[in-house]
Amino acid sequence: MMESLCDRYRLPVKEATMQTPTTDQTALQVFVLGFICVGLAIGFGVTGMFSTFEPGWVRALVFGSAGFCIVFTLALRWLRARGPGIVRIVTVLLMGAVLTVGLTIQPFPLGTLTGFVFLGIAVGVASYERFGAASVLTAIAILFGVLVIVLRSSVSVPATGVFVAVAVVSLIAVFGFRRVAQSSTAAAIADSSRDPLTGTENRRGMLQRVRELSAVAERSGQRVGCLILDLDRFKLINDIHGHEAGDRVLVATAKRASEVARRSDLFIRLGGEEFAFFTVVSQAGELSAIAERLREAIEQLDVTPRVTASLGGAMQRDGVPLDLDDLLRDADRQLYLAKDAGRNAVRIATTD
Ligand code: GH3
Ligand code: MG
Ligand code: MG
Repeated sequence: MMESLCDRYRLPVKEATMQTPTTDQTALQVFVLGFICVGLAIGFGVTGMFSTFEPGWVRALVFGSAGFCIVFTLALRWLRARGPGIVRIVTVLLMGAVLTVGLTIQPFPLGTLTGFVFLGIAVGVASYERFGAASVLTAIAILFGVLVIVLRSSVSVPATGVFVAVAVVSLIAVFGFRRVAQSSTAAAIADSSRDPLTGTENRRGMLQRVRELSAVAERSGQRVGCLILDLDRFKLINDIHGHEAGDRVLVATAKRASEVARRSDLFIRLGGEEFAFFTVVSQAGELSAIAERLREAIEQLDVTPRVTASLGGAMQRDGVPLDLDDLLRDADRQLYLAKDAGRNAVRIATTD
């Protein structure tokens, strides 16, 4: 039975292409917020233990707040898995609750202390929210914090000064850290989507890039065409001339094929000596012409040892949304026909 492309690389296409590297930002964000909440919980707990605040319900409230912070931290992890919207709603509700407590709690100093809870909320939100939502929510948190402190503190001016200064320094640090983390994540993603030997793109991100091509094709009333290029008798090159010579041939092939491709085309190394080429075309004849150009370019490559390639091609099925698995399978079937025809050949599926 014919071994499929996916079997060869032991990865379902969708799964393989959708894997993207993450620095587990969510875990980091939850950690930051958790850290803040636990810090606040400890602060409240210690205050409640050593203060002589009366009446008794004030102490209960302090311990209650500490417990709430811990529960909130745990709940956040659960909520984040259910989408950002619900986390935002809970954050706004939390701010409303803290504002109410801050404005009503007795005695007054405890109100000031509650105002500082907004510092934790602002920093927490800034560390895990998307930039737009983070800006709005942190601004609200700081505004509420200032409001509570101004209304409840007997030394409102210095207290507000301290609050604002700490908020500004913390927020600059958090946003700065996020920028650094973001750019290093982007660099890591770009790096991991390149094949280290040939410098061409690899399967990572293939689905996304093909989707983009599909959108272009749809807008222009065309279709995505796919070619699979497989070097002929490549194992022999390795066996006779050595693995390094094989590597040189792979690098030269990828370089030449990338030159033949247009900027808008997608050329990736599937693995081994197999490459995939995606482009937007109107009809199979155009795809066939590109395949022929690629085959010739490789045949004429000035590389030792010389090499040829077989290519199989297929078009996105007409009138249906693009299915990458189907497209690769169709092209792969044609590749086998090109190999069967004696290699250094092109076969393109003619049916839709
Ligand atoms: P066919 O014409 O039927 O495609 O035969 P082939 O020899 O090209 O195909 P086969 O699949 O038998 O061999 C592919 C070889 O490619 C086997 C493997 O050692 C070699 N290969 C895979 N990745 C690399 C690589 O990164 N560098 C080198 N030098 N060789 C590689
Ligand atoms: Mg092969
Ligand atoms: Mg081969």
